[in-house]
Amino acid sequence: MNYSQELDLIKQTQICKDCKNIVYGKGNLKAKILFVGEAPGRNEDEQGLPFVGAAGKNLDKLLAAVGLSLDDIYITNILKCRPPENRDPLPEEVRMHTPYLIKQIKEMKPEVICSLGNHATKFFLAGCRVEGMKDQPGITTLHGKVRMIELDGMKIKLIPLFHPAAIIYNQKLKVEWEKDMEIVKKEILESK
Ligand code: URA
Repeated sequence: MNYSQELDLIKQTQICKDCKNIVYGKGNLKAKILFVGEAPGRNEDEQGLPFVGAAGKNLDKLLAAVGLSLDDIYITNILKCRPPENRDPLPEEVRMHTPYLIKQIKEMKPEVICSLGNHATKFFLAGCRVEGMKDQPGITTLHGKVRMIELDGMKIKLIPLFHPAAIIYNQKLKVEWEKDMEIVKKEILESK
């Protein structure tokens, strides 16, 4: 698939001019589940891979606990470049970076998207429109609730999950994550 137009949009943003690497994704593009996080952090920017820092190590552990590995999922982010000081994505950055994400989704055709944290969840619930994101409820309300979303004619199950970075020091969220992952596993089995 040709991603050059979408890549040009990413390259126009200041965060792309300032970052070391554009972080596209990792895992199995043939998998049925796509995990979508927020944006690369320092380690991800250094290595050019998503979820390799503390949040990533926690995600690896959380996935292994339910028998999932990078063979079973693909993982990417809303933003493909690191925002300075890991600040929240700006609406304009989301607008310029997500056409690439949509292209990735069209290529992969996942049956399930697990959105990690508020930004990814709000993006999908808003119908992939930046304008609608601010009107969406937060992850505390939405986590573990399965919704069908339509993306370019594809029907995909969206399962919002807490961001693995938020779970590192919060045992209560870990318990919630484990319950939510049971739902993810059930949805995967049902779509087999
Ligand atoms: N947090 C994210 O949302 N994405 C990464 O790639 C790393 C940390």
